[in-house]
Amino acid sequence: MRTITLHDTPTGGLRAIEPREPGRIGIYACGPTVYGPIHVGNARPFVVFSLLKRFLVHEGFDVTFVANITDVNDKIYDAARARGIDSAQLAREMAHRYVADTDALGLGRPDREPLASETIGEIVELIARLVDRGHAYEVDGDVYFAVRSYPQYGQISHQRVEQMDQGEGIEGSERKRDPLDFALWKNHKPGEDTAWESPWGRGRPGWHIECSAMAESLLGIDFEIHGGGADLIFPHHENEAAQTCAARGAPLARLWVHNGMVRLDKQKMAKSVGNISVLREAIEAHGRDALIMYFCGGHYRQPIEFDEQRLEQAAASVRRVREAARTMIAGSSPRAWSPALKEQFLDALAEDYNTPRALAALFGWVSEANRAGPGVGDADLREMLEILGLENLLDAEPLAAPADVRALLAARELARAARDYAEADRLRDAIRARGWEVRDGPQGPQLLPGT
Ligand SMILES: [Zn+2]
Repeated sequence: MRTITLHDTPTGGLRAIEPREPGRIGIYACGPTVYGPIHVGNARPFVVFSLLKRFLVHEGFDVTFVANITDVNDKIYDAARARGIDSAQLAREMAHRYVADTDALGLGRPDREPLASETIGEIVELIARLVDRGHAYEVDGDVYFAVRSYPQYGQISHQRVEQMDQGEGIEGSERKRDPLDFALWKNHKPGEDTAWESPWGRGRPGWHIECSAMAESLLGIDFEIHGGGADLIFPHHENEAAQTCAARGAPLARLWVHNGMVRLDKQKMAKSVGNISVLREAIEAHGRDALIMYFCGGHYRQPIEFDEQRLEQAAASVRRVREAARTMIAGSSPRAWSPALKEQFLDALAEDYNTPRALAALFGWVSEANRAGPGVGDADLREMLEILGLENLLDAEPLAAPADVRALLAARELARAARDYAEADRLRDAIRARGWEVRDGPQGPQLLPGT
């Protein structure tokens, strides 16, 4: 078996994945806060960790991939207020939209997608434990983590204490014993329309504690890989690590793996900056194949610019594979050159998940196949493409359905995400009436000409 290494943020170097139980790997990646449609930057961790799971499964591991959905948050309260609807309703709507949009990436779903609002019991238990152990304190219905009670604080981000800013602004600043402390539980405030009972009164969880609780409840502690965007290293991951270790006396995760930001016009793509490309529109404009190829074209740790040049390059790479595949046949690949290139591909992924180097090997394979002429067996290429979620490039291109049929399919996906199956069935019948069939597969739904 290949040794698989990943860059670990706290130690700053490559480290081998060392499973607690032989052959099993747990991955937790922080997911979106659902207050608006997700953008291409939010999609990057979803793609990186979904594909990392595919590679680890290929290497023989039994992988559980957990990606949470943050559905209780100030941003959700603000956005719901602006639209004049309940925050729970907005969160539900945007969670469905997130599922439909990421489904359209055709990479399948994470194994578990916990909601903060459904993990309140575990969150309260964890906070109570921190209070018992002297790492947290209550003031007027708020509970804060006492950062200086935990001497290892800073071990994830290596920030100096003087530079640390929890980003909580003036909120609670009079109640905190130390400006470094951060909120675990927030007392219910007027204007907030969701609250839960707790030993400290009605309120709601802070952001960081939910991930500690959700990760532990589904993967246990000391699990193999904790992931997320590099913008979460501080304070979010620093705080997650501190909470769990202070409460349980053991680390939350073994490796902390962070993806670089997606940039638009040389700035981090973010709703707050206003330079976003909504994921669904990007999929409609470029196609999911080119988008996956685009993400794989950059090393996951590096920032990646979302620009025309890169997207065109990705589209050209997609066409190159499709064109080469036209003259290939199903069956085993040439022994003379194929195994060596496939090994290069796998070795590149085994060393800090280097997709650009892996793609170079894959396109080396395509060049060899083109040189060899028609009739090359596609088995090894299919195996490599499957790891990248692009095996469909070997299939004959389906006839494109007209725009109205595609719109019906998109509406059906939304209905299914909202569990409105009667509406979903009605839309499928409408699609059928226009001469197309919906086939649901692991790549998401496909439209095929009706028979
Ligand atoms: Zn998180």
